[in-house]
Amino acid sequence: MGLHRFFVEELAAARITLDDTEAHHAIKVLRLQVGTSIELFDGKGNVSIGTIDSMTKREIVITAQSPRFEPRDSLDRIRFAVSLPKGDRQRNTVEKLVELGVDRLTPLHTERSVAEIDHSNRDRLIRYALESCKQCRRNRTMRVEVTQNISQLRQFLKSEEAKDVDSWVLHPAEQMMTGHTAASLSIRYHDVPARKLLFIVGPEGGFTNSEVSLLLESGANQLSLGDRILRVETAVSVAATLASIWIRA
Ligand code: SAH
Repeated sequence: MGLHRFFVEELAAARITLDDTEAHHAIKVLRLQVGTSIELFDGKGNVSIGTIDSMTKREIVITAQSPRFEPRDSLDRIRFAVSLPKGDRQRNTVEKLVELGVDRLTPLHTERSVAEIDHSNRDRLIRYALESCKQCRRNRTMRVEVTQNISQLRQFLKSEEAKDVDSWVLHPAEQMMTGHTAASLSIRYHDVPARKLLFIVGPEGGFTNSEVSLLLESGANQLSLGDRILRVETAVSVAATLASIWIRA
């Protein structure tokens, strides 16, 4: 097994103190001792090896080597806008996105959304993302942006910034709209201009036809992942895997 990993805000100093929750976890749960080597990451892409120098009941002081920049993400090329499911499935969705290297998540508000992401639960999503970074050894975390609705997303799709982004609305095969560009899992990756990618995933109840039309009119294409209806977690996992192949093409 690799070293236990801890999150710290700032990695620049040679001596680092672990904060309350991280220290509590190290002392009470993992029962680490003075002299143990651990790994520290700052969520901004830096990682360092450290050694526990001293510990009290609440605090751990670490001597850290100089940090290396090793983000293990997709270098800001993969973004998802997702109408998130409820409860534990929200955490699950965030974990899949982080593990598969997605750079940015924008919670999406749609007509049939079942979970509203506001200020307070956005912090929870940010925490899930950091926890997942610890587990999967990613050093730059996934950015969780504030919720957007369809019209805000359309503004983005039509903006200058979207010019080097290929945007895909995920939509089951049977529901594809005619007259718009459509792709399916059989797409060969050299058919995809490998630039930046945005995937737009609907709620459990699906997008309404008018939401899909609006997104397609604003420049997104439609992507089917087959003729079965996938759970949101499954759809994001498949799309994120495709994305990591496409951006390497
Ligand atoms: N209730 C809807 C399905 C919603 S599934 C229906 O019966 O049509 C939730 C979201 O996952 C969808 O909005 C879509 O974005 C994505 N999704 C699910 N299955 C998919 C598939 N086969 N292909 C592409 N996207 C899919």
